Amino acid sequence: MSTELSGSTALVTGGTAGIGRTVALRLAALGAEAVVHGRDAQRGAGVVEDIRAAGGRARFIAADLADPDAVLRLAAEAGEIDILVNNAGIYRFADTPETTTEMFDTHLAVNTLAPLLLVGALAPGMASRGRGAIVNMSTVAATTPARGAGVYGASKAALELLTGVWADEFGPQGVRVNAVRSGPARTPGTVEMGEDILQALGRTTILGRAAEPEEIAEAVVFLISPRSSYITGTVLEARGGELALS
Ligand code: NAP
Repeated sequence: MSTELSGSTALVTGGTAGIGRTVALRLAALGAEAVVHGRDAQRGAGVVEDIRAAGGRARFIAADLADPDAVLRLAAEAGEIDILVNNAGIYRFADTPETTTEMFDTHLAVNTLAPLLLVGALAPGMASRGRGAIVNMSTVAATTPARGAGVYGASKAALELLTGVWADEFGPQGVRVNAVRSGPARTPGTVEMGEDILQALGRTTILGRAAEPEEIAEAVVFLISPRSSYITGTVLEARGGELALS
């Protein structure tokens, strides 16, 4: 156990699986109390158990981020938060004629509005205490057109824009706000899409493979840690590199 983040409490949304789970484990190993969020209580209990078994501190809060009232309840139940990782996200794919209002609204609710409500509820407390770090999880689809991923990419492009707005708004009070633009990563969500799709996505990167969750979590942890104390309002790419045109 390290003590780099001891005395801090970190809320990780979507901490029950994939990248978020790995981030929660890493932050707890650095001494933060991890507030693990998700919907699935069984998954949540498993992550809390893993953190405690490694000597860390953790608790679980369930909330469906598609419901704004549940998001505000999550913020209230979490209490005083020093580190916020807006990691939870949904990605459903459809061409434009097949895109429904429900699909658009749900992506915007979970991927954009929920982070906005959490920042609105929690960043003022960080600012009043003079310190805080927020990291938003984005995707290459936010800036590179990806087939079938228009709504997903748009919801994350808005999140990237808001990253800069929040950095400006809370930075003078010591709160840093950054984003990680992830490439394809091997998580329960993407494994469900199929190994062939994951491998095809991996081939769109210079490194020619999908990331392990730890490789994305590393970028998140860096942006939270005091090692990035002069970095705010940025988007750090962890995407395996962008292939040159040929
Ligand atoms: P994942 O394996 O699909 O897991 C999703 C996580 O988000 C789970 O913890 C899930 O919690 C939670 N979640 C989903 N919908 C939710 C909702 N409505 N309310 C509350 N929690 C919800 O996730 P991942 O692949 O690690 O992705 C994590 C983040 O990275 C997302 O923002 C995603 O857009 C971004 N990203 C992922 C990739 C990739 O290739 N994996 C690439 C670029 C960006 P429960 O299961 O407990 O409900």
